[in-house]
Amino acid sequence: MPLMKSWVTSANSADTPFPLNNLPYGVFSVGDMPPRCGVAIGAMILDMAAVEQAGLLDLGDPDLFDMPFWNGIMDLGSEVWANLRARLTQMLAEGSTDQAALEPMLVPLDQAELHMPIIVEEYTDFYAGRHHATNVGTMFRGAENALPPNWLHIPIGYNGRASSVVVSGTDIRRPWGQLKGPNDDLPRFAPSARFDLELEMGAIVGQASDGPISVTEADEAIFGYVLLNDWSARDIQAWEYQPLGPFQAKATATTISPWIVTKAALEPFRVDTPAREFELLDHLKDAGPMLYDIDLTVTLAPRGKAATVLARTNYREMYYSAAQQLAHHTTAGCPMNVGDLLGSGTISGPEKSQRGSLLELSWGGKEPITLDSGETRSFLEDGDTLALSGAARGDGYQIGFGPCTGTLLPALADPYAR
Ligand code: CA
Repeated sequence: MPLMKSWVTSANSADTPFPLNNLPYGVFSVGDMPPRCGVAIGAMILDMAAVEQAGLLDLGDPDLFDMPFWNGIMDLGSEVWANLRARLTQMLAEGSTDQAALEPMLVPLDQAELHMPIIVEEYTDFYAGRHHATNVGTMFRGAENALPPNWLHIPIGYNGRASSVVVSGTDIRRPWGQLKGPNDDLPRFAPSARFDLELEMGAIVGQASDGPISVTEADEAIFGYVLLNDWSARDIQAWEYQPLGPFQAKATATTISPWIVTKAALEPFRVDTPAREFELLDHLKDAGPMLYDIDLTVTLAPRGKAATVLARTNYREMYYSAAQQLAHHTTAGCPMNVGDLLGSGTISGPEKSQRGSLLELSWGGKEPITLDSGETRSFLEDGDTLALSGAARGDGYQIGFGPCTGTLLPALADPYAR
């Protein structure tokens, strides 16, 4: 599919993340205005509350955009999702008779503050990238036992906390935690010294379920995707993770990009999962191409300095699709809700330059990396700003996700000191 032309001329360039082909959904405010739903188009945001108030939508409910999040729209199901996208495409297309009515409802993106696009109901994070799991397993258990015996049969995950998910641009505070002593002696309580990023994608569940669902049903239930940085305290994690998995290591924050890129916008970019060593059991078998060809990049900028590219990878490197993760999540009867967020797990590629975490890039701190400024990093330093970006590249256009950034602030004083 080629670039679709819009009368919003900034949407017609090969470089904009938000051409008419994309139409991602977010929540924005300008000045003192309360946050409201918007759709990004080129360098502008279309104010959906204004569009609805003007009677330009016919989706069966006149008050869909009263709320500053997209959960209500998602809840209405795939027919409404398709109708809304079709109407937006029609209204914003070059030559549309709605142009004059819509022009006053556009707000420049660079004047807007962006907010969480959804209420995150629950957050689950997976460990479903094979290169990442192999790298981490090799460091911790040796190359022979890198992948645990279950890894090639189920997407391993853990239940995280919705309350710690924040939108791009939110500062992150270096956490304190219980850390193992330097010589395997007794633990101590200190700021994390091995604070890290994880380059991931997040899938947003748009339809509720109650009981086991198939991979095909799971794919249908997914509304869209965001970029996701799962900040991780490796020293807290190393001490706490056995036998129940990560807990406080992942409790500080998880950053997502502010625009939900819909499954519909990503449709032309579907790709298969990689070849499998073991055939999956029937309930997890691939049911069509359910990964996406999305180029991913992460950069690190020390305070006041230029950014260095840490890694370039692609979402297609995942071993399990989000649909397989969602299907697996329901296997034992877990009800899923509209607004549930599923982290893919760190997306590393086979090459060193494709590793999606500093843990892997610096090989556990043994091989510090050198930034363009000449500084070195094993893990994050105070003042570092991380920025994820993503783009699916079409014929003369791209489907972008907007920013997914966060700056690491120094730890506060000991929170328990009297
Ligand atoms: Ca993670």
